[in-house]
Amino acid sequence: MFFSDRKRIALISVHGDPAIEIGKEEAGGQNVYVRQVGEALARHGWQVDMFTRRVSPDQPEFVDHSPHCRTIRLKAGPQEFVPRDELFEFLPEFVQAFLMFEQRQNLSYPIIHTNYWLSSWVGMELKKHHPYLKQVHTYHSLGAVKYKSIPTIPLIAKTRLAVEKEILEKADRIVATSPQEKDHMRSLVSALGTIDIIPCGTDVEHFGSVDRQMARQALGIAPDEKLILYVGRFDPRKGIETLVRAVHRSCLRDSGKLKLFIAGGSRPGHSDGRERDRIEGIVAELGLGQITHFPGRLSREQLPAYYAAADVSVVPSHYEPFGLVTIEAMAAGTPVVGSDVGGLQFTIVPEETGLLAPPRDDAAFAIAIDRILTQPEWRNQLGEAARKRVRTRFSWDGIAIQLNRLYAQLLEKPVAVSKTVSPVSA
Ligand code: UDP
Repeated sequence: MFFSDRKRIALISVHGDPAIEIGKEEAGGQNVYVRQVGEALARHGWQVDMFTRRVSPDQPEFVDHSPHCRTIRLKAGPQEFVPRDELFEFLPEFVQAFLMFEQRQNLSYPIIHTNYWLSSWVGMELKKHHPYLKQVHTYHSLGAVKYKSIPTIPLIAKTRLAVEKEILEKADRIVATSPQEKDHMRSLVSALGTIDIIPCGTDVEHFGSVDRQMARQALGIAPDEKLILYVGRFDPRKGIETLVRAVHRSCLRDSGKLKLFIAGGSRPGHSDGRERDRIEGIVAELGLGQITHFPGRLSREQLPAYYAAADVSVVPSHYEPFGLVTIEAMAAGTPVVGSDVGGLQFTIVPEETGLLAPPRDDAAFAIAIDRILTQPEWRNQLGEAARKRVRTRFSWDGIAIQLNRLYAQLLEKPVAVSKTVSPVSA
């Protein structure tokens, strides 16, 4: 295939395939981010190749998203789902597959944007082969923060922390998606390295496209009912338990008017099934089965109606580097109650577009949710302010312009005579 003289960029996302179904197992915000950045950059004149790992022999090697944006799946390790904490050993194979692909296709990329620490390692290895290469990196999650919020530290933690420090110090540019993430990098990882803050974005037209009354009708929500919505993966760090316990404490619990929708997750038998079973167990134990509904994974087409129909969207994560669900709900004009952590402190303006509550504190979540549900006019004001905030701060095209500017700056710089980078110990 012959491509025009568009500038070429590789987005690397080893474990987050930008072309697959989102909202189950480990597929979430990173997959959406890479796909949306890729498509937006293509609209801004780039030729975009997004590289990920092939997890099934049935998956096509190439998926075209638009004439100038495609996903390329490389073979690295077994062609099956492997949890991200077990992927490090397959990365050298990924690097080799990338280099062979370049050679076969007679292509080279002057710039790569890597996503998550696994891909950052791949990027640093590629730089050893291509000293001209510029590397931009987005963490999506920082081990140094994450490991504070989980009870069991995985074996890979030491390697991850070392790689995360190395990439911060060596990347041509780091993209932090919120000021809070930048602060964490500085206080917990390293004082060295250059960081730009460019948030994640969302498709404000798509998520704001559905009328609230029509959405409620379509989902069978009566005008006097109150709908609380969770959207996301089933992962203990998402804090769904806190939400369920908060609903149990709500002053509206026995009103006959309260509904809780917990959306996301796969069918039984997948890696996120255990958390879903656990949450369903808590729902049953608290006697909330009658008011709780699990619609399962929602497609991108279904999501706007759910966000628009909800009276409040809740993001109860223990740790959230950015949290795309928050800005998607806000784009639909729905206020968000979120944990007072990470990116949620950036996207939610308390008392203006939603409320923040301490993570794991179901009593505080119950108070915040009830404040919004019992004051419908205030709820609408918060929702309108939320919609406005997303439009001005978090539209994908606005974000793509900022990334575009960043890449252009890096490519204009004279190519540094780069020394070989010391290897990272596994
Ligand atoms: N999502 C989806 N369908 C679902 C549940 C989630 O498409 O049933 C999407 C959601 O719209 C969002 C992403 O998955 O774009 C989750 O991203 P977020 O940053 O909120 O969380 P992460 O999964 O990265 O922890």
